[in-house]
Amino acid sequence: MHTYINTYIIHTYIHTYKHTFIHTYIHIHVHIYIHTCIHTYIQAYIHTYIHAHIQAYIHTYINTYMHYIHTYIHTYIHTYIHTYIHTYIHTYKHTYLEEESVKEWQRKWTQTNKGRTTKEYFPDVSERLKIKLQLTQNITAAVSGHGKTRDYLHRFKIIEEPTCSCGEGVQTTDHTIYECKRLIKERDRLKRTVTQTNRWPITKKDLIRRH
Ligand SMILES: [Zn+2]
Repeated sequence: MHTYINTYIIHTYIHTYKHTFIHTYIHIHVHIYIHTCIHTYIQAYIHTYIHAHIQAYIHTYINTYMHYIHTYIHTYIHTYIHTYIHTYIHTYKHTYLEEESVKEWQRKWTQTNKGRTTKEYFPDVSERLKIKLQLTQNITAAVSGHGKTRDYLHRFKIIEEPTCSCGEGVQTTDHTIYECKRLIKERDRLKRTVTQTNRWPITKKDLIRRH
């Protein structure tokens, strides 16, 4: 009986202890284990999955944004440089280079012995460039000294006498413009136009510029 009671007590004690122990063990360790597991899992999940997603999202966003910035800067710079260079070069070309080439042209034009007749009409290159002149065969011939005057024809040995048909003097371009009696009517018409703005006799330079 004694043994039986003792056995019972021990059994109960062990049982209780076992229960408590298991209970405590489960309660603490399993709970901690599960908690840790879940915690680790969530943390890992957050770290890898969400972090990666956010990073990818930010990357995409930044990339897109950067793309716009890039495009904007590129376009802006391109437009700016293009406009600036274009305007600058254009202006430079038009002012400086044209001025220089006209100066050079003028220098050569002043120095040369050729085109003496033309020079009387156009002594100034830049002035000539400003005139809008409808060049006909007659005007070109006249201003280049190749007008078919008797003087010209005589110089090229086509006719024997350079004397004008009016009988007074050699028939040069100057003679026909300023002197010839036979062209009084035409000269009067020219004079009337010329004297509205200039004085007669007008220089050939002003004649070609204004009339
Ligand atoms: Zn004459």
